[in-house]
Amino acid sequence: MIEWVPAEFGGRLRAVEAKTRTLITDEEKFTADVANVIPDKQAGRIAQSAGLADKTGWCPINPKTFESSLVPDIHVVGDSIDPGDMSKSAYSANSQARVCADAVGAALTGGAPKPGKLENICYFLAARDHGLKTGGTYQAKDGKLAGVTGFISQVGEDDVTRKATADEGDAWYKAVTKEMFG
Ligand SMILES: Cc1cc2nc3c(=O)[nH]c(=O)nc-3n(C[C@H](O)[C@H](O)[C@H](O)COP(=O)(O)OP(=O)(O)OC[C@H]3O[C@@H](n4cnc5c(N)ncnc54)[C@H](O)[C@@H]3O)c2cc1C
Repeated sequence: MIEWVPAEFGGRLRAVEAKTRTLITDEEKFTADVANVIPDKQAGRIAQSAGLADKTGWCPINPKTFESSLVPDIHVVGDSIDPGDMSKSAYSANSQARVCADAVGAALTGGAPKPGKLENICYFLAARDHGLKTGGTYQAKDGKLAGVTGFISQVGEDDVTRKATADEGDAWYKAVTKEMFG
């Protein structure tokens, strides 16, 4: 049985006493037989040491060009950025990279970057031929990546739809890995 204590209800971990196997949160102390402590996620060390991350631990960017807001002429895409409404995924990182590449090209040639089309789809395979997906489209708005449209697989979809989603996920994976690695 798992009891999840969300951060807003006192679950935020403040300290760990390894000797007594005690986890100290805002409101309680938990003693565990085995504790798997996972620190808050943040941008990788290389991004931090390059001065690209702010106090949130993530890299702020201009959402139109993916240029760092902190270090001029450095562009950041993928898991390290603060992505606003956009999910962190390989699909998102790939989509961001296309817009970013265009913006870098424009910066080098003195042109204006085209407004980029940003999208994400996350596929889940619950069983063979039983695919689910969620995703959306995004655009730069008010200095952030803002959601424009969104979708999610519906409860009660028939087998044909689930298989079509599974096939779509397979096709995406094959296409994106071929595109990246040849
Ligand atoms: C279990 C799991 C399942 C996932 N499933 C999906 C999925 O189904 N679909 C999907 O779209 N996304 C999925 N994701 C998310 C996806 O993997 C990430 O969003 C994506 O890999 C982010 O890409 P990135 O290039 O930003 O970072 P990364 O893929 O983490 O690449 C960063 C790279 O930088 C390298 N690096 C770090 N420091 C240095 C350094 N100092 N010098 C040189 N290299 C360095 C690292 O070794 C790493 O290879 C999944 C993630 C996990 C963990």
